[in-house]
Amino acid sequence: MSANIPDFSSPGSQSRITAFLTDSTLCIGCKACEVACKEWNGVAEDGLNWSGFSYDNTGAVGASTWRHVKFVEGEPEPGYGGAAGEVNSWNFSSDVCKHCEEAGCLEACPTGSIVRTEFGGVYMQPDVCNGCSYCVVACPFGVIQKNDSDGRAFKCTFCYDRQKAGLGPACAKACPTESIKFGELNELRLVAQERVKELHSRGVHDAQVYDPVDTSVAGIHAFFLMRGDPRTYNLPPKPEVPTVYLKTAWRAAAIGSAALLAGSLAAFLASPKGNAGRQSRSRRYRR
Ligand code: SF4
Ligand code: SF4
Ligand code: SF4
Repeated sequence: MSANIPDFSSPGSQSRITAFLTDSTLCIGCKACEVACKEWNGVAEDGLNWSGFSYDNTGAVGASTWRHVKFVEGEPEPGYGGAAGEVNSWNFSSDVCKHCEEAGCLEACPTGSIVRTEFGGVYMQPDVCNGCSYCVVACPFGVIQKNDSDGRAFKCTFCYDRQKAGLGPACAKACPTESIKFGELNELRLVAQERVKELHSRGVHDAQVYDPVDTSVAGIHAFFLMRGDPRTYNLPPKPEVPTVYLKTAWRAAAIGSAALLAGSLAAFLASPKGNAGRQSRSRRYRR
């Protein structure tokens, strides 16, 4: 899909650990980020169809929607909407691959198609993908998806080609309200904390940062500032990398195999054939 060929050979001179802070309190739902992403990366359109339950026609992140602006449509809020008090309230948030610190997709990929870049992002190389879908089921956020037309998996590249050239990601550049902020990971974490403090001081007490550092994902490089419950924005409170269960699974398999082996041996020794063998051997030794 991308016409831009990545180069992992030289560790970018300007390499630094970068991140997105998506501040949903600043998002106006214009979808310029979605369009800029498609345009820069040559990603196919999703079809301009009405979903029938929302003004959001793209629905979710997927193989051809690497940025997705979620429309959270709620009950009318008293005091909002002026003379049109019956109009639903809307919040918007631009979702994207989280570029996880412990990335389930990367750990599950058997071909080495998914790699970590020098900027800390998780990069998918479609030309190495064999379409097995292990990454799809290993992503705790449901981000990476297979393209129905060719069977390979696709997701946000974190605009690796642009970062390599010293540019910011296309989606962040296109955002007219600076809802999508791009910068150095630790600096953006401080910006997020300051913004939450500011919102709290202005009476927006439900503003919070979503960055699950205390889970098996160990933090994300695309974190969010939103109002209320993260689940409203399709963000799981406790995402889990499936491979954290591998150790327990291997231990259980080893214990099961050992028990099976011991049982088989005991059954053989207790069987008439085993007894006959033992008696004939002992007769041979007596002669
Ligand atoms: S959000 Fe999913 S696709 Fe993106 S890096 Fe994490 S595990 Fe991989
Ligand atoms: S970083 Fe680049 S590839 Fe990822 S959503 Fe933004 S524009 Fe698309
Ligand atoms: S471009 Fe910015 S304001 Fe517009 S939908 Fe995307 S994040 Fe929201």
